[in-house]
Amino acid sequence: MRAAVPARPTGSGEPYEPPGLPLELEKLLGARLHAVKVRPYLASALFALHVVEDPSVPTMAVDALWRCYVSPGFVARTPVEELAGVWVHEVSHLLRNHHGRGERYAREQGENEPGQRLRRNIAADLEINDDIYGDGLPRPAGVVLPPMLRLPDGMLMEEYLQTTSLSALTPDLAWLDCGSEADGQECPWELGPEGAHGLSRQQRDAVRFRVAEEIKGRPGGGAGRLAPLGGRGVPSASAVAAVAGGNGPLGS
Ligand SMILES: [Zn+2]
Repeated sequence: MRAAVPARPTGSGEPYEPPGLPLELEKLLGARLHAVKVRPYLASALFALHVVEDPSVPTMAVDALWRCYVSPGFVARTPVEELAGVWVHEVSHLLRNHHGRGERYAREQGENEPGQRLRRNIAADLEINDDIYGDGLPRPAGVVLPPMLRLPDGMLMEEYLQTTSLSALTPDLAWLDCGSEADGQECPWELGPEGAHGLSRQQRDAVRFRVAEEIKGRPGGGAGRLAPLGGRGVPSASAVAAVAGGNGPLGS
């Protein structure tokens, strides 16, 4: 999710880091604890993610079954507080159902090309990144933000995808890959539906319900839009419905 990593051909399947680099699990889990501390209403979701170490992942990525794929090299070179922001970023893809929404958008638009997949990932990132940083989560340099494309904050992934300016960023972001949860298309490193440690539908619904309850219990709950899924602001009815697994563009 950061632009400060070296360029890498998307989908090349080549290891992104030297093989054998150990994963600093304590640092990674310490970063998750920091994320829980500064975004306590996301605790259920953050703890539900199962870490899968994989050197071929560019940074960190998630799939629809709540597995979080992690590059040991990325963990090694990223400060703990920034890693906490990445945890919140990745779990936001899941709570906002970017997998289902990306899949649906691709189906409706007839999109099957790698470049179109990258556009969906960027649009999903724009939806997340405009409101999750601050309040204890420093924004990493080079993170993709709507003003970089002269677009307003606060739009949905589908709305960003309708803008023509989105394509201007894609050559610089060929390395970006937040996993199938970000755009609805499976990545080479993913364990698939039959793989270990995936959450069942019931478990995913339970996590969403608990996060929704936490959001509703926060002071000021009821106004705003998507901010509660990331950080600042106050919860909205649509956001609560989203994490509770409701229907519509934000539901599962
Ligand atoms: Zn992302």
